Amino acid sequence: MTFDKRMLIAVIINRIVVRNLRHNPLSNQHPIQTFVAFRHFQQHFALYQSRNMTSVERSEEEWRAILSPQQFRILREKGTEAPGTGEYDKHYERGVYSCTACGTPLYESTTKFKSGCGWPAFFDAIPGAVTRREDKSMFMSRTEIVCTACGGHLGHVFKGEGFQTPTDERHCVNSISLKFKDEQ
Ligand SMILES: [Zn+2]
Repeated sequence: MTFDKRMLIAVIINRIVVRNLRHNPLSNQHPIQTFVAFRHFQQHFALYQSRNMTSVERSEEEWRAILSPQQFRILREKGTEAPGTGEYDKHYERGVYSCTACGTPLYESTTKFKSGCGWPAFFDAIPGAVTRREDKSMFMSRTEIVCTACGGHLGHVFKGEGFQTPTDERHCVNSISLKFKDEQ
């Protein structure tokens, strides 16, 4: 989708959300969910407006030269690290998790939660930083998540598992795909 189309869609969705907030105060949605959704669209819109989404395009050969074999297997070949082995599985410091491959900030530590699944879990990504794709591999239907900027594989997103988070989503991300930087 071109930039202008995405921006147009963002504007339309933003208007619908604003209208619903004004005229439909008795919506079934919990006020926090409505607020989160509203804040999301606002931030997406701001991002598209400022055009600060950079894209990093490299050939697979270039990625192979830049990344370690393990990073290449996960980020470029959609591999999965063994559960419970990742550097950030039980990591709860304050800061930002960026893409190992291209350095784009993807997740804030404030959205990380303990899921017990064996991989780092986040209930939300930095707006626009992560893109979802349908994944029908392994005889399952799942939603893959990739870094928007470089297309690097991060993991999968699962919804409706009942975690007590604002989105009820779990971004299950390989530690190898992430690079943490603390607040300093
Ligand atoms: Zn990236």
